[in-house]
Amino acid sequence: MKPSHLFYQSRLRRPFLDRAEGVYMWDIHGKKYLDGSSGAMVSNIGHSNPNVLAAMQKQMAKATFGYRLHFENEAAENLAERVAGLSPEGHDKVFFVSGGSEAVESAVKLARQYAVAKGEDSRYRVISRLPSYHGSTFGALALTGYAPLNDPFRPMYKDMPKIPAPRCYLDTDSLTNHERGLRYANMLQDKILELGPETVLAFIMEPVGGASTGALVAPDSYYQRVRDICDEHGVQLIYDEVMTGVGRTGAFLAAEHWNINPDIVALSKGFGAGYVPLGAVTAKDHIVETVLDAGGFQHGHTYAGNPIACAAGLAVLHEITSKGLMENTVTVGTLLKQGLEGLMTDFSFIGDVRGKGLLLAFELVSNKETMAPLPKDMNAYLKLSDIAYDKGLIIYPRRTRGGFEGDHFLVCPPMISTPAHVAEILETLTASLKQFAHENGL
Ligand code: PMP
Repeated sequence: MKPSHLFYQSRLRRPFLDRAEGVYMWDIHGKKYLDGSSGAMVSNIGHSNPNVLAAMQKQMAKATFGYRLHFENEAAENLAERVAGLSPEGHDKVFFVSGGSEAVESAVKLARQYAVAKGEDSRYRVISRLPSYHGSTFGALALTGYAPLNDPFRPMYKDMPKIPAPRCYLDTDSLTNHERGLRYANMLQDKILELGPETVLAFIMEPVGGASTGALVAPDSYYQRVRDICDEHGVQLIYDEVMTGVGRTGAFLAAEHWNINPDIVALSKGFGAGYVPLGAVTAKDHIVETVLDAGGFQHGHTYAGNPIACAAGLAVLHEITSKGLMENTVTVGTLLKQGLEGLMTDFSFIGDVRGKGLLLAFELVSNKETMAPLPKDMNAYLKLSDIAYDKGLIIYPRRTRGGFEGDHFLVCPPMISTPAHVAEILETLTASLKQFAHENGL
């Protein structure tokens, strides 16, 4: 490979992408890959969808950009109407952005402006969870609980308070799942009281964890208790649905599984679905109206609501709703989860399988009883995903750090996946796990 002039996180080099269609991708050497993680849980409706491409082309032929202070555009208006129609009751207004970090920043700034407009200037703290991932810009990083990302920058931002994410699968107490859910939720209450409720602006959480926790699902009792605690203390509940939103867990929002109406919701990833950078924030009407009445939302990004992104987003939503992709996500997700659970019998070092819809993960351990992780220097998360990559299967690896260690892998193929794709994923994964076990003496 010739030296590159661009750089990302590391020196890792990958082959050039040639083309992609449906759930498959090909590099320039003709090698075929099954996109078993939809990129970074982005390409939810698969690659090169002709209807999305046509909608983008149609919009591009008319106008590619009109600055929002100079022109409104029909694509943005139609998309906002569609998103509002799919969102929880009262979320009638939509604020567009171009990515997940932007969505999270916008959600928090909206919450803050709402508090200020109500005369509650003392509220500024945003409680989040450890581990968690909310984005890479400074504000979103302050909420993110993931040591390798936080540590180098700590002096440069004001870290926000954290409570443990409910990683119940590691707990050894004798509580029921229901009790555990309440125990973790009550940690939010304790933290709010410790900080002083009058200083707490919001609590932000991923309803199903993403990259940092590997598809962590809390016990059912957690969700309503968190909602109640926020209500009791006047704390706004922000759902970061950047990864979970727009159908990935089998419902438009993961919040729907627990019948929760968050105050503010952040969306991205599957919204632009790999066709365009696109994100959005929805909020309860009284929040938006109060902020607008008090002089307006002092916030915005240049590319927000641009016509191409919105035309693409509209076509993506049309694909999801008209082709029953959320229903397919439930069916195929169930099949895939059962298959992953089946692997636990064959491979004793798979300690946990979790997730919802097609946001699924498995975690490796050295001992299933104690859930002790594999040694860090084994670099299991890199090794196994590289073996799978060589065999033509893309999965998304992470080693969780910051008090919790563990190698986990997100397996999140596009929502258009079929049972045949699931069988292919499981077959390649089995071969990869066998090779990994053999090479590492497991
Ligand atoms: N929130 C969550 C839950 C995410 O998963 C991500 C991306 N992994 C982000 C925020 C940040 O999104 P982006 O990378 O588009 O800025």
